[in-house]
Amino acid sequence: MSEAIKFILPDDKLPKHWYNIRADLPQPLPPVLNAATGKPVGVEELTPLFPLELIQQEFSTERHIEIPRPILEVYRLWRPTPLRRARSLERLLGTPARIFYKDESAAPTGSFKPNEAVAEAFYIREAGAKKLVTVTGAGQWGSAIAFAGALFGLQVKVFMVRVSYEQKPYRRVLMETYGATCIPSPSKETEAGRRTLAADPTSSGSLAIAASEAIELAATDPDAQLGMGSLLNYPLLHNTVIGLEALEQMEMAGYWPDVIIGCVGGGSNFTGLAAPFLGKMLREGQKVRAIAAEPAACPSLTRGRYAYDFLDAAHMGPMAKMHTLGSSFMPSGIHAGGLRFHGMAPLVSHLKEIGIIEAVAFSQTGCFEAGIMFARCEGILPGPESNHAIRAAIDEALRCKQEGTARTILFNLSGHGNFDMQAYADYLAGKVDDRELDQKTLDAAFANLPSVRPHNVK
Ligand SMILES: *Cc1c(COP(=O)(O)O)cnc(C)c1O
Repeated sequence: MSEAIKFILPDDKLPKHWYNIRADLPQPLPPVLNAATGKPVGVEELTPLFPLELIQQEFSTERHIEIPRPILEVYRLWRPTPLRRARSLERLLGTPARIFYKDESAAPTGSFKPNEAVAEAFYIREAGAKKLVTVTGAGQWGSAIAFAGALFGLQVKVFMVRVSYEQKPYRRVLMETYGATCIPSPSKETEAGRRTLAADPTSSGSLAIAASEAIELAATDPDAQLGMGSLLNYPLLHNTVIGLEALEQMEMAGYWPDVIIGCVGGGSNFTGLAAPFLGKMLREGQKVRAIAAEPAACPSLTRGRYAYDFLDAAHMGPMAKMHTLGSSFMPSGIHAGGLRFHGMAPLVSHLKEIGIIEAVAFSQTGCFEAGIMFARCEGILPGPESNHAIRAAIDEALRCKQEGTARTILFNLSGHGNFDMQAYADYLAGKVDDRELDQKTLDAAFANLPSVRPHNVK
């Protein structure tokens, strides 16, 4: 078998379509509901917020969806991304396991996020909108959509969760460099923001609060549409370029992965890598374990309820069935700002519920330990989010060592951490803590879950 460590696809192997796992699901995804009527949301209700093409993709069960040429042309700036084998890390761990990673840190803004940003900016511009309003946690999505907005001539406004706005000032500068406006949330610009600030002037914000601000602006400005980044079906779909390339690259390497790992916030980088492999498993029976790694401070998949809930704190949007901690849940200010969302993508939640994927949760310090080990072996400083995937991969490799089995592990390096130096500085100074999330806090947030009239739910 190949001893190479780098697997580069030629440009003409760039996927020409996205893969939609909904075509291969053994059970269909539960519908998104209109909160007022309890009925499944239809296309018309979403048109004030999203372009029609994206709404159609949201509902689509077609297996392959063609990637428009202008998107492919931008993808070509950095795609296909390399697949690497982490041989130094294998040696350091003394494991018989083979550890591969898909290097999405090679994208222009340092993470996988432009895969989706470029697609959304293209479709929104095609639909004739001039402005795009969106939210960001750590700033990765914000900078990716700012870059894509610059390419397609859109005005981009980004509500950034205040705790991250303060932790990661250079992400804001990057957004502004691309020409976007970045506002800390909660802000005074919206009703939802003002209400939150009135209740708590020192609120550090959450993705759910920022989402309410963005929905409010997008819904009231006819020139604006809402950028999503993750969670919905279409952002997960667009990220399958990652896994489609990885399928070919693993073939070049001569191995089928026994285990696929990704960190999860909303679920797009994990699904982007895993879905094409899971599809092959569902269609052809080749077994693969897919593991979603989340932070113990915001453990929607491992400790959340599988229930109908809102994506935003002010309950302006529809309700989706997902693993959720409740939209009032305020995660602690962990450095993995991209993983601080109270819910999980309905598609990822469904895959977990029907037993197709697994989930694990890790506290911060173990993740930084893993990320630093990886950096010292492979040279890339991972994003604090990606460290969760690395932790899971290392644990799996250590299990292989214990058992004396040589499994093949593939994980998604979702982004680099070059803008997250404060996180590493804090960790190295011993200032990162692992406060346990107590059940009382969770129960209080669960108490705010909306009640859904039973006859409306399958
Ligand atoms: C946004 C982000 C994530 C989490 O988002 P998902 O939608 O779960 O993929 C993970 N890693 C990095 C580097 C990110 O920027």
